[in-house]
Amino acid sequence: MTTPILILGAGLAGTTLAARLVEEGATPSNLLVIDAADPHRGSSAPATMLHPFPGRSMAPRQVQLDAFTESFAWLDHIARKLPDDWWLTAPMVRPLPENDKGHRLRDTWTDAHSNYPTEIASRLLTPEDARTSFPDLHLTTAALTYNPAASVVVPRLIDHLQSSLQQAGARFVRATATAIHGADQNWHITLDDNTKLTAHRLVLAMGTGLLPLFPDLDLRTKAGEVLVLAPGKAELSAFVNADAHLFARRDGLWGLGSTYFPTHDWDHRDDAQVTRQLLDAITPHVPAAAGLRVEALWRGVRAIFGSDHLPLAGPVPGQTGLFVLGALGSKGLLFAPALAGQLATHLLHDQPLAAATHPDRITPKRWTFTPPS
Ligand SMILES: Cc1cc2nc3c(=O)[nH]c(=O)nc-3n(C[C@H](O)[C@H](O)[C@H](O)COP(=O)(O)OP(=O)(O)OC[C@H]3O[C@@H](n4cnc5c(N)ncnc54)[C@H](O)[C@@H]3O)c2cc1C
Repeated sequence: MTTPILILGAGLAGTTLAARLVEEGATPSNLLVIDAADPHRGSSAPATMLHPFPGRSMAPRQVQLDAFTESFAWLDHIARKLPDDWWLTAPMVRPLPENDKGHRLRDTWTDAHSNYPTEIASRLLTPEDARTSFPDLHLTTAALTYNPAASVVVPRLIDHLQSSLQQAGARFVRATATAIHGADQNWHITLDDNTKLTAHRLVLAMGTGLLPLFPDLDLRTKAGEVLVLAPGKAELSAFVNADAHLFARRDGLWGLGSTYFPTHDWDHRDDAQVTRQLLDAITPHVPAAAGLRVEALWRGVRAIFGSDHLPLAGPVPGQTGLFVLGALGSKGLLFAPALAGQLATHLLHDQPLAAATHPDRITPKRWTFTPPS
């Protein structure tokens, strides 16, 4: 039997794509999603944040602002439709230190904020305003505050989406694809238990699994760590985006993360060292974080397209019926729902895809497809 659409990878990219395909009218039983359940995939992070300005500038590219608006609205809609134990919104505070980084944030905000979409509200606070507005934080400098932002427990979101899709008839299978090849207008996939599958269209939503398939693309991995803290009676009036970011989860636990660590030693760093580094980065702004019990320390890896740091969403040049959705970098929540929506309407209704994230922005010779065989 030939599956009309097979998605390889059931992380944020693959799962939101399946959900958006069904919303757009795909018959759920025509969808098959295969996933190897990599525990270090970005989508297993126990605490993540969605906000419009990840990175070191307050002047994001238009494609990022558009994707944020679309993804936030979609996730908010899902939080009303399915159990919402994974979703919490709050204002974000970004302290502006008196150094190059702080000056850059302030300057880029000054230049760009009048062009933000109306859904994003932002304000520059004097040190005094910042202290009064957020008395539980220790803010000694000016700060930016913006809305909306959300804290997301991605594994719970994925579980809810998958349960609802499975109830509707979509199939999710835990397995590793060990061979892929295209022939006779179809894609043929072999799994690690030697099952053979055939699909009319194949979407590669494999996170870091994309790297070996496209060795000539500038795809890279970046690793990082996330702590989950038990705050006891401490409360947070806002999410905080500083050298690390701290935010409450819906269940009351706090997430503390930073993804800017080198890849080479990510799985060898000592737990105590990681914990100290993350807590040291946030306690100047949130003294209550010092000494909190660590509920979990998670390490993971994400894929990024190094040339322009934008995702890849669309048909793989030169390969009929083969599509990619990935290289979401540190902005998985910002990009995945929006790009999954675009790819769904492209696959089902032949709608155009955004140029900024279209695979054809990269010269075809870089798209050498080297599948496992
Ligand atoms: C430490 C850290 C912190 C982060 N914090 C944030 C944050 O605060 N906000 C945010 O928006 N983003 C954050 N991210 C990024 C975000 O997690 C990722 O961008 C996103 O989860 C990537 O989703 P994906 O589905 O593309 O890839 P993945 O999550 O990697 O999923 C890919 C899936 O494909 C499967 N797969 C791969 N190869 C095969 C194969 N051969 N056969 C079958 N299945 C296969 C894997 O098992 C995996 O399940 C963070 C990432 C890290 C590492």
